[in-house]
Amino acid sequence: MTAIREPAFAVAERSTVPIVGSSQCFPVNRIFCVGRNYAAHAREMGTDPEREPPFFFAKPADAILSGSTCSLAYPPRTKDLHFEVELVVGLKSGGLNIAVENALDDVFGACVGIDFTRRDIQAAAKATRRPWDMGKGFDGSAVVGEMVTFDARSLPQAGPITLTVNGNERQRGDLSDMIWSTAEVIAELSTYLSLKAGDLIFTGTPDGVGPVIAGDRMIAEAEGVPTLTTSII
Ligand code: MN
Repeated sequence: MTAIREPAFAVAERSTVPIVGSSQCFPVNRIFCVGRNYAAHAREMGTDPEREPPFFFAKPADAILSGSTCSLAYPPRTKDLHFEVELVVGLKSGGLNIAVENALDDVFGACVGIDFTRRDIQAAAKATRRPWDMGKGFDGSAVVGEMVTFDARSLPQAGPITLTVNGNERQRGDLSDMIWSTAEVIAELSTYLSLKAGDLIFTGTPDGVGPVIAGDRMIAEAEGVPTLTTSII
């Protein structure tokens, strides 16, 4: 029998995402992201989108900044901080080897998010065949707006997803352009590990990704979820 041990010291509380029209919040367990899930973005990153199954990477759960208005301090060790606007889904349940036809039953809600990327660090990692973690998983790299609850039938699967910088439109796609649907992403990811309640999944970005600097203000929008305003400070 193992004795119950108290933690030796306190750690930061779990990251959360506010839920629209509720006093409750979505507790973040883990953050997973899909690479190259819109054909035009895959092309701008120099790959052929039609030949590759989805691939995944992760960010630390405490990389979250959430709310309708967020401020991100320009991160260290980069001169090329890029935005990637994405639809983000949050799970209320999970499992291993989830069938595509059941995958949306695990969705609690969705929001719009920005997968911030230190593109120079990511590019160096790609060139040297090293992990992407330091390019993708820094403090504040997962910015998300307020979450709306959806069920399997109401989750937006078509409609615009856009990002403006200082009022100029930089990204515009349609959720129906995703190479792998949200259900397919959940099902495929669940073949690698057991998904759990509280997991967030960034579902990929349309083309038009680019750099921002201190003072820039981004407005991210996606069908059916509240607008997210993010300023770089
Ligand atoms: Mn991304």
